[in-house]
Amino acid sequence: MRILLLAPPGAGKGTQADRISVHFGIPHISTGDLFRRHVAERTPLGLEVEEYLRRGDLVPDDIVLGIVEEAVADAVARTGGYLLDGFPRTLAQARRGYRIAVRLGATVHGVLHFDVREPELLRRLLERATTEGRDDDTEATIRHRLDVYKTETEPLLDYYRGRGVLVTVSGEQPVDDVTAESIAALEAIRQKAGA
Ligand code: ADP
Repeated sequence: MRILLLAPPGAGKGTQADRISVHFGIPHISTGDLFRRHVAERTPLGLEVEEYLRRGDLVPDDIVLGIVEEAVADAVARTGGYLLDGFPRTLAQARRGYRIAVRLGATVHGVLHFDVREPELLRRLLERATTEGRDDDTEATIRHRLDVYKTETEPLLDYYRGRGVLVTVSGEQPVDDVTAESIAALEAIRQKAGA
């Protein structure tokens, strides 16, 4: 089973992706987590992307595509599947990602979208800022990440809807309900695809 997860900052991507990937027995690939690990380990790639993450700006496509291709190729070799969380974030990334997936024989079966209204996202992210305190959880950066999502990433919803692979689940329900609804929708897609 190969799935993309498309949702704004604060929608609960990380929690849900962990659960859904366990259900389907596929690796959870989070581009944000991969970048944060590189930053924490002070790798050359980490030093290159650190400022983008701190500002809440998108990392340049060539860097993103490099780590995505490596992680997806590895996941496909091991399990045949993946749950990709945080990619693509732009139409250009979607197009390039598709070409890579075709080359690997591993295009996606479904794209899962969590719908959460902006005031709720802002509330959650500001609350998380006071507890976990990720480096990009300052109010200015949070607002910027939400803007970037709206202008760069949200247009992808139409792109995938047009291809008939988009599933939208309300991310404002209790966490367990979001998980259950997501898994049910994806299981229906899996049956249809025979994956
Ligand atoms: P959130 O969705 O809460 O902003 P993520 O962990 O998904 O958190 O992403 C954190 C940061 O990592 C982004 O603000 C961006 O700087 C970088 N990043 C992650 N994925 C991508 C991507 N596909 N393209 C460009 N930058 C990315």
